[in-house]
Amino acid sequence: MHWRGPRGIRLGIGDWADDLIEGMDRARRGVEGYFEPTMRLGVTGLSGAGKTVFITALVASLMQRQRLRLFTPEAEGRMLAAMLRPQPDPDVPRFAFETHRDALTGPDRRWPESTRAISQLRIALRYRSAGFAAGLTGPSVLNLDIVDYPGEWLLDLPLIDRDYDDWAAHALALAASPARRPHAEQWARALGEAEPGAAHHEPIAEALSASYTAYLWNCKKAGFSALSPGRFLRPGDLEGSPALTFAPLPRPGSGARGSLHAEMRDRFEAYKRVVVKPFFRKHFARLDRQVVLVDALGALAGGPRALGDVTTAMSEMLAAFRHGRSGWLDRLMGQRRIDRLLFVASKADHLHHEQHGALAALVEGMLGEAAERAAFRGARTRAMAIAAVRATAEQEVSRGGETLHLVRGRREDDGREIAVYPGELPHDVPALLALARSAGAGDAPEDWPEAEFARIRFAPPAWGERAGPPHIRLDAALDFLLRDRLG
Ligand code: GDP
Repeated sequence: MHWRGPRGIRLGIGDWADDLIEGMDRARRGVEGYFEPTMRLGVTGLSGAGKTVFITALVASLMQRQRLRLFTPEAEGRMLAAMLRPQPDPDVPRFAFETHRDALTGPDRRWPESTRAISQLRIALRYRSAGFAAGLTGPSVLNLDIVDYPGEWLLDLPLIDRDYDDWAAHALALAASPARRPHAEQWARALGEAEPGAAHHEPIAEALSASYTAYLWNCKKAGFSALSPGRFLRPGDLEGSPALTFAPLPRPGSGARGSLHAEMRDRFEAYKRVVVKPFFRKHFARLDRQVVLVDALGALAGGPRALGDVTTAMSEMLAAFRHGRSGWLDRLMGQRRIDRLLFVASKADHLHHEQHGALAALVEGMLGEAAERAAFRGARTRAMAIAAVRATAEQEVSRGGETLHLVRGRREDDGREIAVYPGELPHDVPALLALARSAGAGDAPEDWPEAEFARIRFAPPAWGERAGPPHIRLDAALDFLLRDRLG
C-alpha cells in the first residue's frame, strides 16, 4: 500500500517509518548535539567483479530490511532505520545509488553502469544496543561511509617504491613475454621507432602513451588483470592529463635533460606524486574495513592463464593491506589498521548452493598467502560466496537415477528462460592454481574445468517495491562487516 508523504512523494510504509525517525533524529541532534560514530567501508575489486551491484544491493537491503535474516541486529529487531545522508567529503563524487537502483528495478530492468572511478555514499544506521546497555541509553546511530573504488588503483602501490627505469624494464619484459606478446604488436612497433635519447616532442610522447594504453586494453580484453599503471585503464577524471601521458622506454646510452626518456621519467614521478599517493593518503588510509570482490567464476571460465593472472593481480592488490610491503604506506598508515577484510566470490547465483562451499574455497585458494598475511597484521578475514542480486532459482532434475543440480534464469541478451547445469567446481584448488600458474600462451589443458556457464549474463530479477533485492548471503556479509559495531 502507498501513501503520499509530506513532500508529495510516493512512499511505502517502510519509507514512512524511516522518514519519521529521521525527523525525530534531526530534532534530537539539534537539542543534544550528540556524537555519532562513523565507519568507513571500502569496496573494491577488479572491473566487472560486481562492486556497483554489491553496493546498490547492500544499501537497498539496509533500507528495506525484509530479506536480512542472517544480519543479527535485524534478526534481533534492533535495527530501527537506515537513511541516506549527505556525504562528508564534498570533493568525492556521490555513489549514484538511486540511478543504479532504478536501473535494476525499472520497467526495462538492467544491470547498472559499472564502477569507473571513486565514489562515496553515507548511510546512517539507527539501532538499539543489545543487552544491558539498551536499557540505559536511547537508540544509537552509526554513519556508514561506503567508498567504492577500482581495484586497478591498488595495483599502483608497488610503483611508489620503484624508479622509472626499474618499472620500465619490468613493464617491457612483461610485454615481451610469450603470453602478452600477441597483444603488444602495435606497441612493439611504436617502441621500435622511438628514440628515447632524442629530444622530447609531445606528439611522440602522446602516441607512445596511447599505444601502450591500447596494449593494456588488448590484454584486458584477453582476460589479463595484472595491468598497471592502474589509471591507464580507469583514468577517472584524469583522462588525457600529462601525469597519465607516459610509457615505459629503455634507458638510452645518454639520457640528457630534455630527452624523451627524461620527460617520461618526470611524468612517471608526477603520476606517483599527484595520482597514486593522494589516493592512498586521502582515501585508502582512512578506511576501517574493506570488501574485496572477486569474479572467480569468470576467471575460471577465462581459462588457466586468466585465472593465474587474476590470482597475481589479487596478490598485488592485497599488498596494500599487508604490513611491510611498502615503506611509504606503512609510514602513512602508522598505527591505523583495516581491522576486517571480507573477500567475496561474487555472482554465486550462477551455481547451485551445493557448490557455494567450493566457490568460497576457490577464492580462499586464490588469496592464499595474501589473506594469511593480512590476518597476521591483525585484520579478521573471511571469504564468502555471495550473490548481491540473485538472478536465478535452483532446480533439481533426475536423470538416469542421478540428481542434477541446475540453476534457472532469464538470459539477458534474448530474454529466454534457460536452465543451466554448471557441473562440479574442482575440489583440488591447489592443483588447479598450480596449473593456472604454469599456464603459458597456449590452449587450456584438456582437464581444465568447463565453466562456460559463468559467462552467461542472467537478466536482473524482479524485486518487489517494498523489499530489498533477492540475494545469496548478502545478509551474512553484512553481519561480518557491521554486527560488532551495532552491538
Ligand atoms: P564493477 O565493475 O565491479 O562495478 O561490476 P558491476 O557491479 O557493474 O558488475 C558487473 C556485471 O556482473 C553486472 O553488470 C552483472 O552482469 C554481473 N553481476 C554483478 N553482480 C551480480 C550478481 O550478484 N548476480 C548476477 N547474476 N550477476 C551479477
